[in-house]
This record gives sequence, C-alpha cells and structure tokens, in this order.
Amino acid sequence: MPLLQARGLSKRYGGICALDDVSLDIHRGEIYALIGPNGAGKTTFFDVLTGFCTPDAGGIVFDRVVLARGEVRAVAARGIARSFQNARLFDDLTAFENVLIGHHGRLAAGALDALLRGRRTREEEARAAAFARHLLDYVGLGEHAGTLAEALSYGDRRRLEIARALAAGPLLLALDEPAAGMNPSESAALATLLRRIRADGTTVLLIEHDMPLVMGLCDRMAVLDAGRKIAEGTPAAVQGDPAVIEAYLGRG
Ligand code: ATP
Repeated sequence: MPLLQARGLSKRYGGICALDDVSLDIHRGEIYALIGPNGAGKTTFFDVLTGFCTPDAGGIVFDRVVLARGEVRAVAARGIARSFQNARLFDDLTAFENVLIGHHGRLAAGALDALLRGRRTREEEARAAAFARHLLDYVGLGEHAGTLAEALSYGDRRRLEIARALAAGPLLLALDEPAAGMNPSESAALATLLRRIRADGTTVLLIEHDMPLVMGLCDRMAVLDAGRKIAEGTPAAVQGDPAVIEAYLGRG
C-alpha cells in the first residue's frame, strides 16, 4: 500500500481552480517531485496535505489513516514535516535551537526557555540535544550549531530548515522549492543530502523548478497545470510526454 494516497483533491479560490480533482500515490522510500508552471497548484497541494487549507473535495490517506482536513498539528503528528518556499526560521535563535524546536514541536520563539527548562527530564533534554546535534552534522551544519540562523548563508538556511523538519522524525518530508536561490554547488550538495535521507528511510516529496536537479533526483513525478494533474511517471517518461511539453512551451 502506498505511503500516501491523494484522491480527488479540489480547491477553489474564488474563480480560480487551484486544484482540480488531483489524485496521486507516493510510495514509501521514494523521492517524488511535483512540478508545473507558476500557479499550477503545487503549493496548494502542499497546503492541503499539511492541513494549512481545507480542500473543497477529496481526501488523503497517509500511512493507512485518513488525514484530518485542515488540521496542521494533527497532520504533523501523523508524520508529515514540511519546509516552506521562504525558510521560516527563528532568526534570533541558533541553528541548534532551531532544530531543538523542530524536535519538541512548533512553539513561539519566546517559549524556548520554557521548552528548555520545562516539564522534560534531564535525560529527555540530553537525548533531544544529542539528536539535534546529530541532525546538524547530518545536514552538514555541525560547525554552525552555535551560529544565529540569521547569520547563515542562504544555502545553509535551507539545510537548517531540512534539519528542523527531520527533527520531528517524519515519515514524509515535504519540501517546497528547496533549491530555489541555491548556487550549483549548493544544489548538488542538496541532491546528495536528499538521496541520503531517502536511503535512511524517509520518503521525500518536493516541489522544484530546477529541472536538471529534479530529473536527476526523483524516482517519480507528477506534473500539474492549472490545477490538474496532466502527467505522472518516471522523469524519462514525463519528459517526453506531449502534454507536458505543451504545458511548458506551448504558451506564446
Ligand atoms: P508557484 O510555482 O508560482 O509557486 P504553484 O504551482 O505553487 O505556483 P499555487 O501557489 O498553488 O501554485 O497557486 C495556484 C493558484 O491558486 C494560483 O492561481 C494562485 O494565485 C491561487 N491561489 C493560491 N493560494 C491562494 C489564496 N490563498 N487566495 C487566492 N488565490 C490563491
């Protein structure tokens, strides 16, 4: 059974059909990409998946359970972690603290003290801290544990977001344009990291506009256009699909 089964998802914003009867399956252990022109509905799919908005129709079965619609915390608790198009970090906290927050759940920045000193035992705190350090090493930010998030380079901020998302121990890591704004060596390092995450057992869903990156990285992909899924398959199959070529090139 697939890890994720989306069926008949539709979402309208006024006269705009952001998602139009979209169904897709994501299998355990794959890297699955959502691509499509601007305004195709990719971020809306993420918003529906992660409970940031409620679909008008359709639903999602994730890890054999029907996902609550429009409930961010419930979805996160089922094992879906998300990054955003623009990194949403606590800029005035260190990289280490940002990852620790990912581990303990979403909290207001001011609650960090309570989080650190709160109801947790010392042993729990030590375990959480060790896991956060491990994740920083894992994404290549070990040397920046004590650096404020605002002082990190763009590529490092994106990797910190991934570490923070991984801190929740997700089954599915959903990344919205993780390579946007990265230079070629940063996006090559990102591809290596995502392959490693897949190899270590976390399924990856990504929205990405960097076609060479996506084509070389994902196992399968879906193409959205004006809210509809117009193609799905391996990168090689999708690349040669006439409907996809039309969607990308056919508009004069
Ligand atoms: P991009 O690649 O530019 O990020 P996308 O494929 O992620 O695009 P969405 O952001 O999902 O596309 O948008 C799909 C359509 O829905 C667009 O026409 C967009 O303007 C519209 N839309 C998305 N969110 C809202 C909203 N909150 N209110 C009104 N319209 C919205």
